[in-house]
Amino acid sequence: MKVLVVASECTPVVKVGGLGDVVGSLPKALKKLGIDVRIVIPGYKDIVSLESKETNPQIESRKFAIHYGSEAQKITLHQTTLPDTDIPLYFIENEKYISNGGVYMDPSAFASSQEEIERFAFFSKAVVELFVSREDVFFPDIVHCNDWHTGMVSQLIKVEARYIELKRPATIFTIHNIANQGMSATDVIDRLDGEELSKSQFIKWDSADDNLDFIMQGILGSDVINTVSMTYSEEIKTSEYGEGLNEVIKAKEARVFGILNGIDNLAFNPSTDTHLKINYSLDSVDSVLKGKAANQKLLKRELNLKENDLPLIGLVSRLTIQKGIDLFVSSMDEMINMGFQIVILGTGDKTIENTIISKMSDLKLSGNCAGIIKFDEGIARRVYASSDIFVIPSRFEPCGLTQMIAMRYGAVPVVRAVGGLKDTVKEGVTGFLFNEFNQIEFLSAIKRAKRVYDDKSLWEKVVSNCIMADFSWDKSAKEYVLLYGKALGFANMS
Ligand code: ADP
Repeated sequence: MKVLVVASECTPVVKVGGLGDVVGSLPKALKKLGIDVRIVIPGYKDIVSLESKETNPQIESRKFAIHYGSEAQKITLHQTTLPDTDIPLYFIENEKYISNGGVYMDPSAFASSQEEIERFAFFSKAVVELFVSREDVFFPDIVHCNDWHTGMVSQLIKVEARYIELKRPATIFTIHNIANQGMSATDVIDRLDGEELSKSQFIKWDSADDNLDFIMQGILGSDVINTVSMTYSEEIKTSEYGEGLNEVIKAKEARVFGILNGIDNLAFNPSTDTHLKINYSLDSVDSVLKGKAANQKLLKRELNLKENDLPLIGLVSRLTIQKGIDLFVSSMDEMINMGFQIVILGTGDKTIENTIISKMSDLKLSGNCAGIIKFDEGIARRVYASSDIFVIPSRFEPCGLTQMIAMRYGAVPVVRAVGGLKDTVKEGVTGFLFNEFNQIEFLSAIKRAKRVYDDKSLWEKVVSNCIMADFSWDKSAKEYVLLYGKALGFANMS
């Protein structure tokens, strides 16, 4: 089976959040199952300037022209491999739309401008022209799209009459976050493929209110849809979590599935992690607790925290309203009073960044908390390795990877019981959960965690459960293969 994964991020080449982790790790597990899987991402400025024949002799580049609007646009398709694998990785370079800037134009990673939306419309068109309209690059059986950035791909494959002449690939659309939809002005339809595209009922219906919702087009146009946890696949059918698309999801219910994300256990491994100054083995809870204590001592020094034996609470996150950082920051005084030290690592929304910065300047907290406003893989790894408790107070969370990474590093998660957090953390067994998004419930979960922490043997049991939890991709990759089979079945029916 030949699968093309289409996405906006792919770890370790380009990552902003969990989407990058998934795209950089699921294919490795698929490959082990015998799938011929390949990945295509945009050739952002940084990638294009870093990857060249001089720096990467393996790279192969071919030039093409595609039609977008009234102009023929030059593109270069570069082919390399996902680092440390033989999985082909393509990136598409185009000066005007794709390679003119960084990953996303908004630091919170939310679609914020027509310019950003245009970039991904162009990328989607290029993917279809290179991999579906012609057969001499790589003609997949399945095109696996991810989030709004790739929402137009299935429609472009489906509605353009010239593709229907060919046997078209089946399409699957994975929703990593339904809140980020990619709302475009409707004139993009003309640039994409005016005449044919505007005949589609779904495009007509969606554009009647003068905008086109890319994620909705991905949902409506794809053979099967999945989200990244079972709970989230149910939540998005409700008005509370569906972000206005709950009825659309319900209408396609028979084709909507949930597959839990995994993590790359080789990449996230405290015994080999090169970002840690002291590695520790996962063979016993004793070695984890000793390793954690040693890393914590060093991290406290690195971040100018008071060097003492107080337990450390960690948080690593994109800073968006979704992540509930406001609840965390407003509860910091109480957590410090309970006898914790705190470290926050994050970047994103400027208002949230400023709230953290101003909280950190509060003298009462001095020496007991550190806020680092940046994206830094190394510090993130050291926070996982050093934290006793790892907090994720999200308003909603499609899957969440940080709780799984934290558990793998022996940090016990305290999370809101939503989406994938609910599916991966078990109260009193591998962590602590709270239901309502308010301070009382949140602090009550932190207190329960502290009570267990204070009882050495109980804590050892919880940490031991965490490191034994298996979130590797093996099981979920098998579920994706089954889903690809379903997609082929639906595609043959249409
Ligand atoms: P989301 O995809 O919504 O951002 P996830 O929990 O699925 O959330 O994945 C977040 C990923 O991004 C994790 O690998 C986490 O370690 C990483 N990450 C988030 N913020 C930072 C940061 N400031 N520095 C380094 N890594 C970060």
